[in-house]
Amino acid sequence: MSKPLVAIVGRPNVGKSTFFNRIAKKRTAIVEDTPGVTRDRLFEDAEWLNYKFTMIDTGGIEPVSEDIILKQMKQQAELAIEAADVVLFFVDAKDGVVSADYEVADMLRRSDKKVILVVNKVESSKDEEMVYDFYVLGIGDLFAISASQGLGLGDLLDAVVESFDPASELEDEDDIMRVALVGKPNVGKSSLANKILGHNRCIVSDIPGTTRDAIDTPFKRDGRDYIIIDTAGMRKKGKVGDANIERYSVIRSLAAVRRADVVIVLIDANLGITEQDVKIAGYVHEEGKPVIIAVNKWDAIEKDTFTIEEYNNSIKTSLSFMTYAPRLYISAKTGQRIDKLFMLIDEVYSNATRRISTGLLNDCVRDAIEVTPPPSDKGRRLKIFYATQVSTMPPTFVLFVNDPALMHFSYKRYLENYLRKTFDFSGTAIRILLRERSEKQ
Ligand code: GDP
Ligand code: GDP
Repeated sequence: MSKPLVAIVGRPNVGKSTFFNRIAKKRTAIVEDTPGVTRDRLFEDAEWLNYKFTMIDTGGIEPVSEDIILKQMKQQAELAIEAADVVLFFVDAKDGVVSADYEVADMLRRSDKKVILVVNKVESSKDEEMVYDFYVLGIGDLFAISASQGLGLGDLLDAVVESFDPASELEDEDDIMRVALVGKPNVGKSSLANKILGHNRCIVSDIPGTTRDAIDTPFKRDGRDYIIIDTAGMRKKGKVGDANIERYSVIRSLAAVRRADVVIVLIDANLGITEQDVKIAGYVHEEGKPVIIAVNKWDAIEKDTFTIEEYNNSIKTSLSFMTYAPRLYISAKTGQRIDKLFMLIDEVYSNATRRISTGLLNDCVRDAIEVTPPPSDKGRRLKIFYATQVSTMPPTFVLFVNDPALMHFSYKRYLENYLRKTFDFSGTAIRILLRERSEKQ
């Protein structure tokens, strides 16, 4: 279900935001079925020729000095390479090729990601002549556009959607389970990865943002193959502002989530659930990945008999869109409940890949309708003729109905809950889609 990610990189003022805003779909203020999660400006959904994709603006750079700009451009590029399916490298026809462009071009070329060079602000014949200079950057696919005047955008977007790899959706058909550890800096991702792997592979430190990279490490446990995706901390702070650190760590987490079969969202027991946790969990929910909420550092807090219940309630309230996720209280330090964590990993994965036979599914829907009949509007009642499961990860059901407009959000919720009562879908989102059918069909 993951939409392709398109990252936009380039110097300040080359017109990235102008492009971004032009292409982005008008956003609904709050993701419809994700109460409480407001989308970051970081990601925008876009659509072209029926292709849906998500754009990441890796920007947010304050033009301070050439040095810093270069450093930050490199970080952007790195991140874009790591996270995105397609990278749009923006340059400015009015400025011509500048030195920072070479270094970034170098990094992008060495990656095996699809890179498209976008020469922006091409509005006159003089600008058009400039375009040829940019071939020196050695990036083959070059498009001349004017973001502000809307010139050349169609050709560019054609190239973008053409480069989406239809096979990439299928690539992990192997038996290896990819488990992503996500959460804000210092929540214990590296510690948990180390505990699981049983040796000190990464350097753990108290300093948020110490240099570490997202690493995929394969391992075996009880005869099963896993890969752990540890999104680790961000690069050393240096001169990059806090806002960037957070932005980068969010993008990184999303990239890890997209590659994962199961996601573990870590919460710091010392801090309780924070806004950033909600944001990260929101992304996991939107990606529809099987998920476990692991409250880490359980060893570090004082507990009584009510403590777990208090945490449970606060998580259920803050992550009300994700009440399906099992919660587990762990310690990466002592290893408490790591065995249980692995049982849950296998469990949520099998729930997310569960296929319900059409017969059983329709029995369940019929029961649900009998218990609580569908809503009606101005004398017309919603009729559900038939249900079928169309995909897994997350389990997605199509209901054929007389008129999708008659479906209420609350009734959809009711059906979802009924499905959950009947079949075990703990740890996974469920999607219910509606298709119109006439009574005769
Ligand atoms: P960003 O820093 O890369 O996100 O750049 P912005 O989108 O903020 O644009 C920087 C400046 O360039 C603004 O003043 C824009 O109005 C201007 N700009 C953006 N796109 C174009 C374009 O296609 N042509 C011209 N002439 N100016 C543009
Ligand atoms: P990351 O930034 O999410 O990778 O977090 P780290 O694994 O680097 O951990 C940050 C800090 O929290 C380190 O000082 C760890 O020793 C500490 N820490 C991690 N897990 C636990 C835990 O389960 N209990 C306690 N008490 N401390 C932990």
